[in-house]
Amino acid sequence: MKIKKLSNQFLLNYILIILLILAIGSLGYYMYVSYNRSLDDFYGIDIDLFLEDYARDGLSHALSTQAFQEGDYVLTLTPDREIIETTTDQYEIGYRFDEIELQELLYGEDYYSYIVFYNEDYSKLFVMYTVYVDYGYAHITTIFGLAIVLFILLAIGFANYTSNQILRPILKLVNGVQKIGHGDYTTQIEFDASNELNILKTEINLMAEKIQLETEKRQETEEKRKQLIRDISHDVRTPLTNILGYSNQLIQKNDFTSDSQKQSIEIIHQYGTAANHLISELFDLSRLEINEDSFERKETDISEWLRLKLIDYINEFEQKNIAYDFQIPDQAILVAINDLYLQRLVDNLLINAMKYNETDLSIYVELKEEEDHYKLIIADNGIGIPKELHQKIFDPLVRVETSRNRSLGGTGLGLSIVKQVVDKHGWTIELLSGHEGVFFRGCTFEICMPR
Ligand code: ADP
Repeated sequence: MKIKKLSNQFLLNYILIILLILAIGSLGYYMYVSYNRSLDDFYGIDIDLFLEDYARDGLSHALSTQAFQEGDYVLTLTPDREIIETTTDQYEIGYRFDEIELQELLYGEDYYSYIVFYNEDYSKLFVMYTVYVDYGYAHITTIFGLAIVLFILLAIGFANYTSNQILRPILKLVNGVQKIGHGDYTTQIEFDASNELNILKTEINLMAEKIQLETEKRQETEEKRKQLIRDISHDVRTPLTNILGYSNQLIQKNDFTSDSQKQSIEIIHQYGTAANHLISELFDLSRLEINEDSFERKETDISEWLRLKLIDYINEFEQKNIAYDFQIPDQAILVAINDLYLQRLVDNLLINAMKYNETDLSIYVELKEEEDHYKLIIADNGIGIPKELHQKIFDPLVRVETSRNRSLGGTGLGLSIVKQVVDKHGWTIELLSGHEGVFFRGCTFEICMPR
């Protein structure tokens, strides 16, 4: 929507007010002129024309151009009130009014019927009598009435317009902000305005949406945290229960020599190791999460770094009959890395590939340069991870639930640690599979490192 400035709106309002005042003024002037004209109409006389005709052609000619009616008459008086011309036999030439008599005549009962005026040099006074005809006021009253109604309508319309454009939006904004202030972030302020208030409305609505989203996110994180504590308690309790059970048995039988007792001790050791592993992995993960270490990084040639790292694995791969293919560029690629944590990342991905996939395993590692980033790919052709778990698999304690997994003693923390290391470096990681992956099956982890 095109935004109109509030200042323009105010300017428009001022112009409207000025136009309204001008309209009222014009109407007043029109009414004043109409009233004067109606007076002329009322007497049927145009005085200027009469005087002009009279000076040129005398009384009878001057009267012939005026709308004189039956019963109307004119007296011409000298300044000392003597009749010198008359068009009625009521008065005779030579008759002289005394002052009071003339005043009584002109301002008496028939007041409306007389019009009195001098000629230009005040040498003659004309007294005209005309029969009263009331056609002057009627239309003026109508016009006046209509004008008042029109002004009232205009004023209401104007007030409405101003209120729609400015006052109502402000009230709605105040209302909306109060609701948001009371914690109702689903509030959306709605009104139609084409000025800056509309921008304010959109911004406030966006802000409320953002707060709502953040609140939901916080609730979700809180939920995840609770679930994590529940899962950890569960995972720690299992080995501990076993340790307690078997050690109890040993204590009760008080015989540490027989084969079954030896087996019990082995089981206790196995569960103890699992619990210890889980707790130390949790400790590492939380250290990464709560930023305890400063997470130092050093510019390193990761082509060389990776080559050295992979050499450590070659023996193991060959012993386990694992096919491997490493594509590492010859030239140096400089990236700021935290050596220990990056070792952990590569170890976790390679160990997972071996741990969860046994027969006919191939492992592929590639480091390559792309337009604005470097890419590290670690892939296997194993059983893979179901597509629906791809997003969640980096969350702590998430495992693909198979009995085999449990027996392999996984904690479900390996990939969370990988994700934390990636995040800490400011990189991204993605799990690809199917035709997006390297082998069309298994897992392909792609790590993007911006240059
Ligand atoms: P853990 O530390 O227990 O190995 P991870 O977080 O590393 O847990 O992995 C989570 C789950 O993802 C594992 O339980 C396993 O089922 C699955 N997984 C991880 N890597 C692979 C892989 N390369 N091939 C098949 N499954 C894998």
